Amino acid sequence: MKLKGTLHFFEQLLYPLKCLKCGAYIDPDTVDPCSLEACFCDRCMAAGFYPMAAPFCPKCGAKVQQGAAGNHRCEACVKTPLVLDRVRAVAEYKGITKEAIQLFKYHSKLAVARVFEHLLFQAFLAYYATARIDLIMPIPLHRKKLRQRGFNQAYLVIRNFVKLYQHHFGQRPLWRIDSGSLVKLKQTPSQTGFDIEQRKCNLNNAFKVVSQKTIDNQHILLIDDVFTTGATCNEAARELLNHGAEKVDALVLART
Ligand SMILES: [Zn+2]
Ligand SMILES: [Zn+2]
Repeated sequence: MKLKGTLHFFEQLLYPLKCLKCGAYIDPDTVDPCSLEACFCDRCMAAGFYPMAAPFCPKCGAKVQQGAAGNHRCEACVKTPLVLDRVRAVAEYKGITKEAIQLFKYHSKLAVARVFEHLLFQAFLAYYATARIDLIMPIPLHRKKLRQRGFNQAYLVIRNFVKLYQHHFGQRPLWRIDSGSLVKLKQTPSQTGFDIEQRKCNLNNAFKVVSQKTIDNQHILLIDDVFTTGATCNEAARELLNHGAEKVDALVLART
């Protein structure tokens, strides 16, 4: 087999070839391997992919009404601003994105991680290519949760970021991935079904910085899969800021 043929063969192995939701065959030659089409058939893709497009709040990244001034914060951010500097998302948490995230997290459909990583990297380039970032940190899971699930979804979607960066820019990045300086101490119940105040309360002191020296004066980019009320990312950011981080942003796969 020629090199190109070999590469193609191995590339195919990385993709499911069957729709992750309904099992229908997917022809790898007709789909973009960096899009969700590589994991879902046309019928399932009809649920829709909704990229997070302007206009959105410049701080929390929430969709705002068409016609809203681009530099105006949304009402929620005016009332109770997040400690996070700014939040950016790849897509809205609905349609095929929502299904893909749930299949990924709760049914271990890991093939989708590679596509999510590409989508997240594109968003990283769009929003952070020229920003100062020192550390990229996946939101940690509690060790019991990690043991149960077997993987941290936020880490799986950035683990090749250095490689992607080098491929894109031809040099090593100035930032590094840090998945050890922040840990989750409290096992918080699933946040679904709680209102915003309950979520905040659940997350009180949930995170802990274990290496203050590493995060001192750093600009940190947190990574998570879903941002709903933002309580998780915001609590993680608060802990980092309390321990000397200079600025904390969040980049997520999907946002409500
Ligand atoms: Zn399907
Ligand atoms: Zn906002």
